[in-house]
This record gives sequence, structure tokens and C-alpha cells, in this order.
Amino acid sequence: MKIGVLALQGAVAEHIRSLKAAGAEAVAVKRAQELDELKGLVIPGGESTTIGKLMRKYGFMDAIRSFSAQGKPVFGTCAGLIVLADVIEGQEEAHLRLMDMTVARNAFGRQRESFETDLPVKGIDETVRAVFIRAPLIKSVGSEVDVLSTYNGEIVTARQGTLLAASYHPELTDDYRLHAYFVDMVKEAAAAGSRA
Ligand code: GLN
Repeated sequence: MKIGVLALQGAVAEHIRSLKAAGAEAVAVKRAQELDELKGLVIPGGESTTIGKLMRKYGFMDAIRSFSAQGKPVFGTCAGLIVLADVIEGQEEAHLRLMDMTVARNAFGRQRESFETDLPVKGIDETVRAVFIRAPLIKSVGSEVDVLSTYNGEIVTARQGTLLAASYHPELTDDYRLHAYFVDMVKEAAAAGSRA
């Protein structure tokens, strides 16, 4: 079961390592055609404006939308979460607009530009080690979105069907349980797809 990591900008190698640790085959994705052979996709952290520009330039917008419409799971972390959102606060244009949520960029303020914490996540037994780096927050979600964790009352992990989003960087630690959670989503979706 092959999962791709969008390799336009950002923390690509770290996601590949974590996906492999979680038992999946993982590859860097540089061209939209490469999506055809994948069962799931990770959009990494980095800088969402840059990732959005490169996605448009290399034909990933429609390709990822149709990938997702085929029921294949997509996991966005940090900038990747911003890229998935329907609405980005203070910006006219969003990117993929796949997830029914409003996000705020760089939402933790200057004093707390980056920090680590142990986060309880619904569906995962013990807390997940989470690294926040100029992280976004999910300000509100639609009725189809399941909130998986909050930090100081703010939403930082959410799922909408086959879409998963985290404000932080799970790939920068040795804790790969959130990747394992995503790998399970991909397995379930692949099984459902082959039954259909
Ligand atoms: N602040 C970045 C943005 O707005 C996201 C930071 C990250 O991915 N670590 O795109």
C-alpha cells in the first residue's frame, strides 16, 4: 500500500520516515500523474502560500481534488492543514477547499512561535507528541467534521471522512501513532474501494 508525500516544499523526508515506521510504503510525489498509483497522500508543513502556488503551477489542484473524490485519504499537517481548508481567515483565496473548516494562520502569537506538547487525540490510546511551529488553528468546523483534539480549548486535530488535518508536526518526533492512524484510514478506504 503506497502513500505519497507531496514534495513541492516542506518536511517531506520526515513524513516518509514516519509513514514507513507505521508500516506503509512511502514515496515523494513531484508530479500530479504520480498520484494515480497511490492510495493516500500527505501534504506536509512548510509555507502554505508557497505550497499553494506550486500546487497551482504543477497541476495539483484538480488532481488532488479528484484523488480525494475517489475516496482516497489525504492528511494535511500544519501548512498542509491550511491548504485543505475551505476558508483561511483574512485571505480572499483558499487553496484546495476540501475540508469544511475555517483556519487562522500563525495563530499562536510570537511568544509561542514554536513549542512541543503531549496531546490527547480521539481514537489514539495515549497522548501524541506534537511539535507546533508557527502553527495554524482551526477556528470553526462544519457538521461533517469530527474534532479529534484541542489545545487550550482550540481545535488542532480534525477529521472529515477520509480527510485528516493536524496543526502541528507529528513527523518531527519518533512518535508515529498519528501516521499509523492515517495508514489505517488508507487501509480502510482501499478495502472499501475494492468492495465497491
Ligand atoms: N505558518 C505557516 C503557514 O502559514 C505554516 C507553518 C508550518 O507549516 N510549520 O503556511
